[in-house]
Amino acid sequence: MCECFDNVKNKVIKMYKDKIGKHEDFKAQWENYSFFFGKNPPKIPVTIPIYIKYRSFKKNGNPCRNLTKDSQGLTINFCPFCGEDQKRDNEIKKETGS
Ligand SMILES: [Zn+2]
Repeated sequence: MCECFDNVKNKVIKMYKDKIGKHEDFKAQWENYSFFFGKNPPKIPVTIPIYIKYRSFKKNGNPCRNLTKDSQGLTINFCPFCGEDQKRDNEIKKETGS
């Protein structure tokens, strides 16, 4: 697994800190950073969000007054910086037959 996400973030933080001069309480992290649980989590920690907005209906058949807002994050299979295939360990094992 490549370390592009950490490397790129650290470069951006350094550039940004040089630009702003004296500061305190600085914090920076990837937007849409996600923690994954389970046996076989995706290796890239950032997801691409799709924002979803819709009007649902009440039990009586009338439309709800307010829109429901949601988002769905999609994981990435290839590193957008170096192009490395981020296939999960199990999938790679299956392909090599071991
Ligand atoms: Zn990479």
